[in-house]
Amino acid sequence: MRRAPIGIVLTVVIGVVAAGSGQALGGGYLIRHAALVLTMDQSLGDGSLLGQLEDADVLMVDDKIADVGVNLPKPSGTSVIDGRGMIVMPGFVDTHEHAMQSIIRGCAADDTVVGWLARCTSGIRAANPTESEMYAAARLHTVGLIDSGVTTVNDWIGRFLTPVYRGDVRALVDSKLRFAVAVFGFATDGSDLAATVNLVKQEFIDQNPLATLQIASSPNPGTAAHVAVASQLALSLGVKLHVHLLENIADLASNQLQVLQNNGAFALGRDLHVAHFVHASDSDIATIAGLNASVAHNPLSNMRLASGIMRYPEIQNAGIRIGLGLDGGTNDTTDMFNNMRVAVGLQRAKSLNALGTPTIVEVLRAATLGGAEVLDMESQIGSLTPGKQADVIVIDPRVLNFAPSVALVNQLITNGQPQNVKYVFVAGKPLKSNGNLVGVNVGTVIKDAQAAADRIAPFLVP
Ligand SMILES: [Zn+2]
Repeated sequence: MRRAPIGIVLTVVIGVVAAGSGQALGGGYLIRHAALVLTMDQSLGDGSLLGQLEDADVLMVDDKIADVGVNLPKPSGTSVIDGRGMIVMPGFVDTHEHAMQSIIRGCAADDTVVGWLARCTSGIRAANPTESEMYAAARLHTVGLIDSGVTTVNDWIGRFLTPVYRGDVRALVDSKLRFAVAVFGFATDGSDLAATVNLVKQEFIDQNPLATLQIASSPNPGTAAHVAVASQLALSLGVKLHVHLLENIADLASNQLQVLQNNGAFALGRDLHVAHFVHASDSDIATIAGLNASVAHNPLSNMRLASGIMRYPEIQNAGIRIGLGLDGGTNDTTDMFNNMRVAVGLQRAKSLNALGTPTIVEVLRAATLGGAEVLDMESQIGSLTPGKQADVIVIDPRVLNFAPSVALVNQLITNGQPQNVKYVFVAGKPLKSNGNLVGVNVGTVIKDAQAAADRIAPFLVP
C-alpha cells in the first residue's frame, strides 16, 4: 500500500471529521485513494464489466458524480474521505420490496407463500394498523436498507387502507433513499385505485426528485378486473405496472400470464415489471423477453418460502433485464450482501457448475446497474459515471468478518455484511457516515417498531 505524504494525511483527518458529522464543508466529497473502485462503467477503469480502478478517487459535487480517476485535484471546500484500504461502488438497487413487512419478521417461517400470506400479512390487515404503526414498520426497514448499502428501493404496497399508504410512503420519504413505490389501492374491483394513486402522487411523489410512482397489481383470475384498471392507469400515467408473477408452484393453476395478456398489461411492454418469475416455462420466458419486460429476482425470499429457484441463466440469456429484490418480510432481512450470496449459491447448488450464471461479477452488476436498468433509471444511477447521481457506497474490508484483503471483488460476495458499509450517499448526501446512520436514532426506531409489532402480534398466526 502506498504511503501518503504528511499533508495529505492531515487533510484526510480533517475531512473525515467533517464527513463524520454528516455535514459537507462545502461543495461535496472526495473519496481519496480507495483500494478498489468498481465503477460498473466499462468505459472507465480496466474495461471490464465492473469498470475497476485501483488506488483511485471518486469526486462528488452537489448531487452528482463529478469525476473518477487517480490523484484527482481537490476543489476547495470539498470534504475528503480517506479511502485507503476501502472499496467504493454504486449503491445497491433493490427492485422489489415491501417495507412495512419488517413488522412480521420471522412469522410463519415453516410455510410457503400461500400460508405465509394467510398467517402473516392477513394479520396486519386484520389489526387495522394506524399510520404511525406502519410508519414505524417501514422506518425500521428503510433504516436497515441504508445500513446495508441500498440507495434505491422499489416498494410494492398491497391492498391496504389509506393510513397504511401514508405511513409507509412517509417513511420512504423520510429515509432520503431514492425510491419507486407501486400502489395497489384498496378495492378488489379497482374502483379505488385511482384515488389512492392520486393521494400518493400529490402528497409524496410529485414534489420529490427522489421518488417515482408505479402501479401495483396481482394477476390472478379473481383479480382480473384490478389488472385491467391498473394496466390502463399505468399506461395513461406512463409508469410501470409492477406485479408478482409465477412465484409459487400453485400460481401455475392461475394462468397468470394469460390474465395479464387478457387485461391489457402486455401493452405496457418494457414498463411491465415482474417479481419472482420462478415457475417460468421456456415459452413464458420468450413472452416476457418479447415484451421487453423486466424481472426482480428475490432468492432469499424464494428459498425461505420453498418457492423454488428462478431460471436465472435462461432468463438472462433471453436478454431480459434482471435486478435483485429483498422482498420484505418473506426474506426477513435487509441484507443485500446475503441476497447476492444466495443468488450465486442457489444456481451453483442447482447446476453443480461453479462458473454458472450469475457469476460473482454478474451478481454485482445485477445488484447495481442491472437494477437501475430494470427500473429504467440507468441514465441516472447504477454506475459511477460522471454526470450520474452520486449514489455511492464505501465498504471497509479491514474488519473481522472480511479481512484480510486477498481478492476484494470475490470477498464482497463471500464475506460482505451490512456492518462493512462505512458510507452511504444518495444524491451526494451522506445517509451513513463513518459507520453511523446520519440523523437516525436507532434505539427509537427499534422501540417504535417493537411497540407496533406487539400490538399487531395477536392478529398473526406465527
Ligand atoms: Zn413481493
